[in-house]
Amino acid sequence: MMEKFKQLVLKLGQSKTVILLTVVSVISSVSIAYVTTLLIPTIKASTSMMMAFLTPLIVTPLIAVPFTGLVFQLHALETKMRELATFDELTKLHNRRAFLEKAEFALQLAKRENQHFCVLMTDLDLFKLVNDQYGHATGDAVLALFGQITKQISRASDVSGRTGGEEFSFFLPSTTAEEGEVFANRLHAAVRQASVDYKGLTIHFTVSIGLAAFTGKNLGQLDGLLQMADQAMYQAKRLGRNQTVKVVGL
Ligand code: GH3
Ligand code: MG
Ligand code: MG
Repeated sequence: MMEKFKQLVLKLGQSKTVILLTVVSVISSVSIAYVTTLLIPTIKASTSMMMAFLTPLIVTPLIAVPFTGLVFQLHALETKMRELATFDELTKLHNRRAFLEKAEFALQLAKRENQHFCVLMTDLDLFKLVNDQYGHATGDAVLALFGQITKQISRASDVSGRTGGEEFSFFLPSTTAEEGEVFANRLHAAVRQASVDYKGLTIHFTVSIGLAAFTGKNLGQLDGLLQMADQAMYQAKRLGRNQTVKVVGL
């Protein structure tokens, strides 16, 4: 019923639909009044008033129900679309685009308020092996778990996101190099405690972290700062994985 109504509205366009609905309302109203005067020729003024009251009472819901239904459908779709455009379905973290947007905002704020801040790039270690040995579904479960962990250890003001397949980035506002290191250690510790089950086996995983710490005086652009953290992360890989490498910028 709602689908047919939607198709009709789309076919007619807005102005023709409004005209059609107005015509339908007027015809219904006039018809009801006319039939009533035919049935009761001696109709009184009070009855006419009653008719004037009853007609919109019957006609308006008939028109308003499908229309409000469409508005609610539209609202639900908009909400879903915004969610899909902002969040990664698997980890429930911000996707790459949303992370970069929020981190850029946090960077401008840190510069304006001359605050320390940290940028972290993290990459799950030997993740291809997890997929190869235990299957893609287990890999997905690890990624989802990592998403939960990052939420648990982050502050509400921290910006985090899944910026690649098994790569996650963080922008920590008002955070010194030492505080950034505390965060990275907390992340390693939480990952150490975490595991997923695969056919009765307990699967553990590790993460390599590149931590770049800056002050609000830093004049660099976000992509350059992320690159610094990325290089530190690759250094952590070269040093044997499952560790953090820290670099201090200006
Ligand atoms: P390294 O420690 O050097 O980072 O090794 P690695 O195996 O993690 O690195 P590599 O880049 O070779 O492999 C990344 C793997 O992550 C390969 C890819 O299949 C997997 N991956 C990326 N996205 C997803 C995903 O959404 N789900 C699953 N299950 N795996 C994913
Ligand atoms: Mg990677
Ligand atoms: Mg990896």
